Amino acid sequence: MRIVWDTTECTRCDGTGQHSYNPMHGRRCFKCKGTGRQISRKGAAARKAWTQEITDVCSRPLWSLRVGDVIWWRKRNGDEGWVTIASFAEIDGDHVVMHCDGMLFDGRWDARFVKWDADDRQDIREEIVRRFSGARIEE
Ligand SMILES: [Zn+2]
Repeated sequence: MRIVWDTTECTRCDGTGQHSYNPMHGRRCFKCKGTGRQISRKGAAARKAWTQEITDVCSRPLWSLRVGDVIWWRKRNGDEGWVTIASFAEIDGDHVVMHCDGMLFDGRWDARFVKWDADDRQDIREEIVRRFSGARIEE
């Protein structure tokens, strides 16, 4: 099961998924990546609430995490997203260096990260779908 945000027709390409030609994207609309759809105002409100909830509920101290856990953090391209913990190296006492998909965190063991947790997230999905018309659950 996954949560799906309400969408509306892309305002850049009027839902066609195509736009004037450029060498980088061809004729594909880069705002909607050629899908012709973009997140609606209702969908964006639901997604914002969901992000806040998972941050509150699934936040864990670094010392409780393990190699292979998936956490919400910075990706190589600078966007935020889900990344996998590749390794830890304790420098001394509470100072640690963590590698995730090519990125490096240098800080303390009690720093908090949002951990991907399927059970918690299912509760949150259902709650968000109850509270917001801009989200639904898809099998
Ligand atoms: Zn578009």
